[in-house]
Amino acid sequence: MEWMYRSTRDAQNRVTASQAVLKGLADDGGLYVPEQIPALDIPAEELAKMTYQETAYAVMSRFLTDYTEEELKNCIRHAYDEKFDTPQIAPLRKVDDCFYLELFHGATIAFKDMALSILPYLMTTAARKNHEEKEIVILTATSGDTGKAALAGFADVPGTRIIVFYPKNGVSAVQEKQMVTQKGKNTCVIGIHGNFDDAQSGVKKLFSDEALRDELAAKGFCFSSANSINIGRLVPQIVYYVYAYGKLIADGTLKAGEEMNVVVPTGNFGNILAAFYAKNMGLPIGKLLCASNENKVLYDFFQTGVYDRNRDFVLTTSPSMDILISSNLERLIYRIAGNDSEKNAKLMAELAKNGSYTITEEMKEAMKDFAGGYATEAQTAQEIRTVYEKSGYVLDPHTAVASYVYHTWKAQNHPTAPAVIASTASPFKFARSVMSAIDSKYDGMEDFSLIDELCRISGVKVPKAVEEIRTAPVLHDKVIETNEMRQAVKDFLGM
Ligand SMILES: *Cc1c(COP(=O)(O)O)cnc(C)c1O
Repeated sequence: MEWMYRSTRDAQNRVTASQAVLKGLADDGGLYVPEQIPALDIPAEELAKMTYQETAYAVMSRFLTDYTEEELKNCIRHAYDEKFDTPQIAPLRKVDDCFYLELFHGATIAFKDMALSILPYLMTTAARKNHEEKEIVILTATSGDTGKAALAGFADVPGTRIIVFYPKNGVSAVQEKQMVTQKGKNTCVIGIHGNFDDAQSGVKKLFSDEALRDELAAKGFCFSSANSINIGRLVPQIVYYVYAYGKLIADGTLKAGEEMNVVVPTGNFGNILAAFYAKNMGLPIGKLLCASNENKVLYDFFQTGVYDRNRDFVLTTSPSMDILISSNLERLIYRIAGNDSEKNAKLMAELAKNGSYTITEEMKEAMKDFAGGYATEAQTAQEIRTVYEKSGYVLDPHTAVASYVYHTWKAQNHPTAPAVIASTASPFKFARSVMSAIDSKYDGMEDFSLIDELCRISGVKVPKAVEEIRTAPVLHDKVIETNEMRQAVKDFLGM
């Protein structure tokens, strides 16, 4: 059975899975969605026995139906290997009353590695299958973690180049150092004066710039996206929810068919959407808890049905969630609008024009599996301190937002199902915020001393990704205005 994908803004725009991976964003500005969600027709007892790689094949082969078994297994083998510092790839850690699904054991110690370590293989395979001879130019906006994970994935991959834009003053010291020290002749990293939404809007504009697309084609280039709008990122993210469920069956926490709740620290809505797709495949997930930081546009949306980005952008200690336009929400909107591209396109046009839209009561009813919550900066810091003092386990600020939201929700709703909290970054990536939350005596300490101190108090070895940047030279130092992004792309490509 071959699944087709179609744009959320134009039902006539239909492509195969590999074409959707290759294109990233649809030309009409929409996102590709599978026309149907495949069923996860595998008994729980079997899921319980599967390795991460086997689970990845079971899930991905059901979505990416035009890849052959050999192609897909080859992609999986190259992606989930020794780049990860544990053979479990995504270990599930029980700490106190919840399960933290650690998605930060890859090359750049954030959950973006889960999808970005496989995307380059999915994409170059897709190029081969579709006889695409042009060089693929990956254009990416990052709030900190995507950029480095995409750079690590695409560096020196033949037939590709990658350009990353990041908000100059909107990422952590370690995040910035990781990016600007990136090696690889095909890589380009540029800071912009503006926030993440400015970077993301700038990139979206370049994608829909037809004149630029023609100029690129004439020079033998085509754009693609490594942002979480690419279906090649979304599908690999479904895998770890299925894997986590298998683990809960294996250790006897759950019996086949019993539900787990899922809590996700959310920014662009990609990670939690993957959990929603997993639920729609038939994975027993009860509630989907969407956790926001002080940029709580999603919390407000789940409360009121009004999406309104007209508000101040707050820089927080969880920068990868500092987002007011959650791109992947469009895929949920499309679905709760009854897979109606016209209705969806209308709402997205309103968002572009007025910065807000309101959904109908019927649509609101269709998202009752979701609940929203948020944590302020003080609550996030408090959660890091509380969990550390109780158990010795150190959370990064993103995971702490989710953990706080869960504990608050739990106190009100008394769930019986266990909670799986998506643990999206290593605390080492955000050592300053984490250590200050634990004790104010760390406030004045220098970055790498903090990292050594974090290693001491947590008993966790300093990850290789952090060791590497201690001494690495800065290779990218360009900072530009958002209106210079188009020219910067042309400069890098020698046009
Ligand atoms: C990207 C990211 C998030 C947000 O994930 P979305 O899929 O954009 O919702 C949360 N935490 C960390 C550490 C991230 O890198």
